[in-house]
Order: sequence, then structure tokens, then C-alpha cells
Amino acid sequence: MLGFQASQCLRPLWLSIHLRSHNSHHVTRKCCFTGVRRKLHACVVGSGPAGFYTVQHLLKNNKEILVDLYERLPVPFGLVRFGVAPDHPDVKNVINSFTQTAHSERFAFYGNVMVGRDVMVSDLQEAYDAVVLSYGAEDDQLLRIPGEQLPGVYSARAIVGWYNGLPENKDLTPDLNVETAVVLGQGNVALDLARILLTPIDLLRKTDITGAALSAIAESSIKRIFLVGRRGPLQVAFTIKELREMVKLQGVRTMLNPSDFEGIERMLLENIPRPRRRLTELLLKSMPQSSSGCVGHREWGLLFHRSPTHILPTADGERVGGIRFQLNKLEASGDTVKAVPTGKSEDMPCGLVLRSIGYRSLPLDPDMPFDKRRGVIPNNQGRVEGRAGLYCSGWVKRGPQGVIATTMNDSFETGEAVLEDISNRSASPRAGFESIRPKLTSKGIQVVSFGDWERINRVEQERGLKLEKPREKILDVQEMLIHASG
Ligand code: FAD
Repeated sequence: MLGFQASQCLRPLWLSIHLRSHNSHHVTRKCCFTGVRRKLHACVVGSGPAGFYTVQHLLKNNKEILVDLYERLPVPFGLVRFGVAPDHPDVKNVINSFTQTAHSERFAFYGNVMVGRDVMVSDLQEAYDAVVLSYGAEDDQLLRIPGEQLPGVYSARAIVGWYNGLPENKDLTPDLNVETAVVLGQGNVALDLARILLTPIDLLRKTDITGAALSAIAESSIKRIFLVGRRGPLQVAFTIKELREMVKLQGVRTMLNPSDFEGIERMLLENIPRPRRRLTELLLKSMPQSSSGCVGHREWGLLFHRSPTHILPTADGERVGGIRFQLNKLEASGDTVKAVPTGKSEDMPCGLVLRSIGYRSLPLDPDMPFDKRRGVIPNNQGRVEGRAGLYCSGWVKRGPQGVIATTMNDSFETGEAVLEDISNRSASPRAGFESIRPKLTSKGIQVVSFGDWERINRVEQERGLKLEKPREKILDVQEMLIHASG
């Protein structure tokens, strides 16, 4: 609990605090402080899981604190809305708990505000006792090989954003009129991509996938998808639940090359951690000869020991026609296993290449501390190095890895650091959003409250109802803003 400083205690008996309540009306809340202390104001930047879990921790563990959440889009929830696959509705249930948090009287949501452009981090630091940066990882890693810019090569981030309705990807129109697609990467995002592109269309229809993606996938000619990795079967990065879904996918055959698994059974007898052992056992069980019941007109498979060196054009040079791989062998290097080139290469024809080699955070503004090599804000348990009062949580804190539960734990750690520091620091009263508002007004920015978002939400759900799906997402920011204002 907070121990407030004596210097903050002399406040009038009745103090008016402007709060933007969840139903979007500005209310003036009269708080009776019996000659006591001022409210502490914190703000969080980014409304994905990291942002919301940080808010939850602050509100739950300090009954005095007010928390404002700034989000660049008019709609909240970050990758829960724009990343998690449409056929995984259960994962999105965290939205219910975030919504409950957002209904706290001590919370306000300011959507459609891009920090670093509409308002600077330094403005927020002047306005709040603590500022937490939870803005995720919105860029993607590049392969940096010839041909990467050819039409038909996409980042996983863009394709995921396209089928999940991220406004900036709404006009993507990927050409799925190809027989073979290659996904570079063997993580859960790579499996999501393959699964969504191969799932029977009648199953996808019942999800919140966008209408445009649904039509494109319904007309897709994709017959096979390969997920390609630099190393071997013991180094795949996906997890067992996602693999199980993939090998059981209706009408889709799994292709694995037995020669990639030579010696693996023997290695399983060694000291391999249980999750890795179970995952590998499932891969072994999924070999074509042992999955005779799973015959379909479409296929997916894993290719190992290959690193892309060139994306090859079609004969007319107009778009992607294939990939050149360098073949690798594995060498032990300390605790890890390294892929080392054998000097041999292989060309593989394909019409679509999806780069799924990771997301990447960027600095918010040029004078913010940022570790460009690791793509994170340098921090100590969430405290930004060299910047008192500034914190970070989620993917921008620890890098773009880990699931929502991991993000929750590190956000709680950051929340704890904020509360510890705030209780030890005396500071002058901060105006919070009241000192940010004039900056946004002068730029003509329409700020979206949580109540406004709930209006957008209702429109999406009503449209979804007519199509017998959970929601039909609005793709255009201007249209979101029209529905936000009722
Ligand atoms: P994000 O969720 O990205 O949130 C960042 C927020 O900050 C966004 O709302 C963004 O709009 C906002 N923002 C960015 N810049 C600014 C700015 N300048 N000003 C204001 N706001 C800003 N985990 C699971 O547990 N299950 C899954 O099934 C699953 N599927 C996934 C699928 C994909 C494709 C991906 C990429 C991830 C998936 N994850 C899944 C992982 C999970 O999404 C992450 O662990 C989690 O979203 C990270 O949270 P975050 O808040 O750090 O980032």
C-alpha cells in the first residue's frame, strides 16, 4: 500500500476530479478527502495485454491511484484483437476481464491517440506521476536477401493483420491464386498462418475473420504449404496444442520426411525436457505412414535444415516464383545447436512467401532509451534505465516472445515496480489528462473513450449477428470514429 508524503496531504476537503467514465460522459466526481492526500496519476501507453494487465495491477493494489490508458487506434486490446487467430475465440476471452477493468471509476481510456506523434513521452511524464510504455512490437524482421521486395512476399504481421482487420492492412489483397506457399519460420504464428489458409471455409465463416479475407481464402488455389526452418525437428518453436490442431485439420495431409527424424527417437531417451519430448513424439506419430486416415486434397509439411538466400522471380520477373535455400547441418554450440551451411543449395518453386521470423519493437521518439540490437527498451524489472518515473511492460520490455500469460506476469512485475517507487517518492500534484487534452484539441484529434469503443463494439456485433459470426470488424479508422461518436 502507498505511504503518502506529508507535503501532498494539504488538499481542500472537496476536490473535484474530472474523470472520463466508461459511458463516455465527462463526469465531475466529488471526492471527500478528509484533509488528506492527493490522488496519484499514472498512465499506460498501449492497450494490448501488457497495457491492460499493468492497469489491473495498479488499480487492484492501490485504491487511490487513477490510471489513464492511451491507445493509437480507436479500438482496444492490441494483438488479442489483431493477432490471435480468428478460430481461437477462447484465447480472446481475456477481453472480458479487460473490459471489467475498464469499467473502474479510476480508469480512463484515450483511444485514437498516438504517443510519439500526437503527444510526446515527455508531455506524459510532466502530466503523470508514472508513465508505463506497453506499446508492443509493431514492426517485423526482414530477411535482407535479394528478391524480398517481389510481389507475393509478405510479412506474417501483414497477413495476420489483414485477416484480423488491422486498419493498415485492410487493402492488402494477397494473391492466393497459387498452388504452393512457403512460410519461413516454425513458430506458432507460422502454424496460425498455415492453419487459417487451409481451414475448410465453412469453419472459418463462423469466426470473426474479415469478410475480405474469407472471400479470398474461399477462392484460394493453395494446395500445399511448407513451413521451413534453419535447424531440425528438435528446434521447432511451435507448441504442442497448435501442432495437434494442425495435424488434425480436416481434409489436410501432414507431410514429414522420415530422413529428417533419423536418430531422433534415440535422442528422446536422453534428458530432454518433457514438453519438447511430447512435441517431438507427436511429430513422429504424424509421419505420413502412421496417419493413413488423414488423406486430403491439401497438404502441409515441415522442411528442416534450410535457410533462404534468394527469393526467385517468375520468368517475366513480375512476382515471386520460388526460393533458393542454402542447406544446413547442425553443430552443437554450448547449450544450443547452430545451423551451419553445407555449401549445397536447392531451389523450390512457390507462388507465395510468408516471412514469419518475428516481430520487432521500435523506439517511440528519438530521445527515448532504446536497445536497437535487442529491439527492447533497456530496463530493470520494468524500470526504464536512466529515466525515473518511466516504465515498460510486455513485448517492448522483454522482446516479442511469449504468450498472453507470460505478458501478464511481466506486466505485474512492472506494476509492482511503479507502486514501490511511487510510494517512496514525493512529487508535486500532476494534472493527468487535463494537461494533455489541449494538445490533442489543438491538433483536431477525436479522442475515443471506452464508452465510445463499446458503441463501435455493438455495431460490429450487430453486423456479425446477420452473418452468423461473432462480429464483423470495422476496418476503416474513419468509420470507427463515426460510430464512436454515436
Ligand atoms: P500488443 O498486444 O501488440 O499491444 C500493444 C498495443 O500498443 C497495441 O494496441 C498498439 O496499437 C498500441 N500502440 C502501439 N504503438 C502505440 C503508440 N505509439 N501510441 C499508443 N499506442 C500504441 N498469445 C496467446 O496467449 N495465445 C495466442 O493464441 C496468441 N496468438 C498470437 C498470434 C499472433 C499472430 C501474435 C503476433 C501473437 C500471439 N500471441 C498469442 C502473443 C500475444 O499476442 C502477446 O503475448 C501479447 O499481445 C503482447 O502484448 P503487448 O501488450 O506487449 O503487445
